[in-house]
Amino acid sequence: MKDILQNYNLKELSAIVEEMGERPFRAKQLYDGMMRGHDISDIPALPSAFVARLTERFEDCALKIVKTLTSADGTEKYLFRLADGNIIEGVFMKYKYGNTQCVSTQVGCRMGCRFCASTLGGLVRDLSSGEILSQVLKVNAAHGGTPAKRQVTNVVLMGSGEPLDNYGNVVKFVRDMAAEGGINISPRNVSLSTCGLVPEMYALAKEGLPLNLTVSLHNVSDEERARTMPVAKRYKIADILAACSDYFDKTGRRYIFEYSLIDGENADEAHAKALAALLRGRPCHVNLIRLNDVKERSLSAASEAAARKFLKLLTEGGISATLRRRMGADIGGACGQLRAGYIGGSAPQGQD
Ligand code: SAH
Repeated sequence: MKDILQNYNLKELSAIVEEMGERPFRAKQLYDGMMRGHDISDIPALPSAFVARLTERFEDCALKIVKTLTSADGTEKYLFRLADGNIIEGVFMKYKYGNTQCVSTQVGCRMGCRFCASTLGGLVRDLSSGEILSQVLKVNAAHGGTPAKRQVTNVVLMGSGEPLDNYGNVVKFVRDMAAEGGINISPRNVSLSTCGLVPEMYALAKEGLPLNLTVSLHNVSDEERARTMPVAKRYKIADILAACSDYFDKTGRRYIFEYSLIDGENADEAHAKALAALLRGRPCHVNLIRLNDVKERSLSAASEAAARKFLKLLTEGGISATLRRRMGADIGGACGQLRAGYIGGSAPQGQD
């Protein structure tokens, strides 16, 4: 597959345009078109000879929306096709304060979490920064948004893949998405979720990006955590918490823990009390969610009553916590479910 334009910011595009011997204003034209979600051949007012030269070197279409599913709750799930034919997915959620898009950072994932559909086929490849950015540009455009009037206001890196396992491309994506004159989504409106790759968490704290750091904790003891998350054998919870403290010291931003409640695994009263003790006094928030059932996996969600009890115990223990609604459960809302169904030949019904 060829390179894609979306891997380059305006400054880098200017250098490319100059090297191609084209007039400098073409760079801005390309950039503006790209930010509006256009493919190269859709960018208005480009001479056809330039388009021909560009598409020799760059893919015309970096990423295409191939399917959109809309949930009864308004959540939309997208399937995207990359230029090499790989399929990734994303979710668009409407909230009172704005619209959040969930993006993928890799095709597949190699972290092996037992409850997660994204990792079923292992890691296929990393996404480039431009492939991550294109997900936002295309969905913003699909909603009638422009860079000046954004429809996507918040981005969460919680789709398929482990963002910190694709560190360089993810950091470049965050920087490029924040550029003024572009889609201009600030890192303050971006949440990066990791299963806890400790060295990269320390590196991220030094980037000078005010990102919301989110850690998938899902248990309170290393032994139990390792039952569902193989990464727990490499990094201990204590080391993750130390890296979170460092992140707070360097960025001044509180961090978030994701805790998916799984029946018989991590959702007992004892877990709730131990979690409250573990996190007490830390500048953090806990997002609880009942596991989204994944048909390829044997694990199932804790009951609604157990989830409410868990929340109550955390709150009584002095921890800031919320129990999130499971959005889009009827359309394969959990990580990797839609892609797994699609490439396995059993995609849920939706409009193409
Ligand atoms: N690799 C990153 C980001 C992708 S997963 C990470 O591990 O954080 C985004 C979140 O969805 C993580 O908290 C993950 O543990 C959670 N998740 C994955 N599958 C799920 C499921 N079936 N039900 C509920 N949460 C799930």
